[in-house]
Amino acid sequence: MADPVSQASSRWRDLDKLLLRPGNLVGPNFDPGTELRDDLQEYAKVLVVGAGGLGCELLKDLALMGFRNLEVIDMDRIEVSNLNRQFLFRLQDVGKPKAEVAAHRVMERVSGVDIVPHFCRIQDKDLEFYNKFNIIALGLDSIEARSYINDVACSFLEYDAEDNPCEETIKPMVDGGTEGFKGHARVIMPGVTPCFECTIWLFPPQVKFPLCTLAETPRTAAHCIEYAHLIKWDEVHGGKPFDADDPEHMQWVYSEAVKRAELFGIPGVTYSLTQGVVKNIIPAIASTNAIISAACALETLKIATSCSKTLSNYLSYNGLEGLHTKVTEFVRDKDCPVCGPGVLLELDTTTTLQKFIELLEEYPKLHMSKASVTYRGENLYMQAPPVLEEMTRSNLTVPLFDLMGKIPKGIVHISGTATKNDKKTSCTRKLRVLFKVIDGDTDMDTATGS
Ligand SMILES: [Zn+2]
Repeated sequence: MADPVSQASSRWRDLDKLLLRPGNLVGPNFDPGTELRDDLQEYAKVLVVGAGGLGCELLKDLALMGFRNLEVIDMDRIEVSNLNRQFLFRLQDVGKPKAEVAAHRVMERVSGVDIVPHFCRIQDKDLEFYNKFNIIALGLDSIEARSYINDVACSFLEYDAEDNPCEETIKPMVDGGTEGFKGHARVIMPGVTPCFECTIWLFPPQVKFPLCTLAETPRTAAHCIEYAHLIKWDEVHGGKPFDADDPEHMQWVYSEAVKRAELFGIPGVTYSLTQGVVKNIIPAIASTNAIISAACALETLKIATSCSKTLSNYLSYNGLEGLHTKVTEFVRDKDCPVCGPGVLLELDTTTTLQKFIELLEEYPKLHMSKASVTYRGENLYMQAPPVLEEMTRSNLTVPLFDLMGKIPKGIVHISGTATKNDKKTSCTRKLRVLFKVIDGDTDMDTATGS
């Protein structure tokens, strides 16, 4: 047994190889030395979003790497089916909040680390909560949750007058994702590398079978299951919504799928496959989670210390047949409504919402007609549906300045029909609105900065 002193000095041996020595591959502003390691342990604050398969791995990896100030947020409780891969959880933990058990277990095993758990929805926390972290690491399985965190992190980003991102407002994110034997790890530096929204097309729409195949020519077990789920359920239950979480509903779909499969001589319909197809579940593989988390944790360390240049900017991993990884440098969408600089618009404080919407039609960079306007997720005016139009109509006569809480500048999002090269497309744009407080009459032309 090594004595405690030599244990302590050997504990960071591998980390020290990265942090104490200069090298050719280091990032900009890298300043090697023991102070860097001390700063990492003392000041770097990382939020891990999700405490499932990826989140458990991420927390453990970051703690072992030397991060000491970690927080984890997750709204779920532990289920028996999690235990095969979410290795921080035991049978006696079933029913307990994942975030709390994960934090507790890592602190038990890794001395010196402090992990604050948050058992709640990501939407329950305010912007200030998210702003206190240096880096946000995502171990999520949903596109919606990623989009939400992406919106939050990008909302801190500010641009200077030349549309360059202000470095101190960049909130780095490291995102991991797995699907069976495939996975990805990516680094998102809002304003520098593409954000989640810039590359939303990376997530293809879910595969749907053509209804005629399901109805006429089923060939696979999945076809039989979807027939029972999408066609037969409605025929028999006429309007009653199908609830995938109701075991009776699932059992009904399963037995109908079995009948269908027998009719066409198709093997392979099982209850768990029925669940998988209906709920669109892809089996989670522990080793994929481990590999992707390791890549994410390393990127987090690189961002925190500059000990190496970060991944640029998307790593894909495929372990389905043999092993294949590659790094792709995706490019930013300069007009991204989330991370882009947005179009700068100067208004005076008396401009009504109606007048603002009219201005958007003539504004050179926009040419947007029939715009709907939202501010901080709140609908200021909606063109459709009629119900929302009516609800928001009274805002039209109110100055935008008042609707935005009388702040000197803010970001609004508009969506409508834009005309570019004589083509009409529906699009969403981000606007940076600046209010000029001017005494007396104001000429609208100068107020819009044109
Ligand atoms: Zn973007």
